[in-house]
Amino acid sequence: MVDNCIFCKIIAKQIPATIVFEDEQIIAFKDIHPKAKVHLLIVPKKHIATFKEISANDGDLLGHMLIKTKEIAEEHHLNDYKLSVNVGQHGGQEVFHLHLHLMSAPN
Ligand code: AMP
Ligand code: ZN
Repeated sequence: MVDNCIFCKIIAKQIPATIVFEDEQIIAFKDIHPKAKVHLLIVPKKHIATFKEISANDGDLLGHMLIKTKEIAEEHHLNDYKLSVNVGQHGGQEVFHLHLHLMSAPN
């Protein structure tokens, strides 16, 4: 839990979010400003500020995140979709707690 991190606060249930999946390692919730019909954020509970800070120790966590993302996409009946990670301020990252965007393809 990192002070002033909005995603840590969602993980700690200090601020609300529409949670669609949660286990001991990750949480997934609806993006508050959706850019697609389905726009979910897949977030590790461990505070990793940005993709640039991942290490070999995070391999199991990141693998778990990807497998669960695939399952969450299936549960939302998404066939084609986009996965993205914004890395750093100039990469469009606004929230500095690692997250994967899962967005449905336009239909
Ligand atoms: P990024 O630009 O990759 O850091 O993406 C941050 C995303 O978090 C944006 O798409 C925001 O709409 C979303 N976001 C910010 N605050 C919240 C919140 N309280 N609940 C859900 N999504 C949020
Ligand atoms: Zn955090």
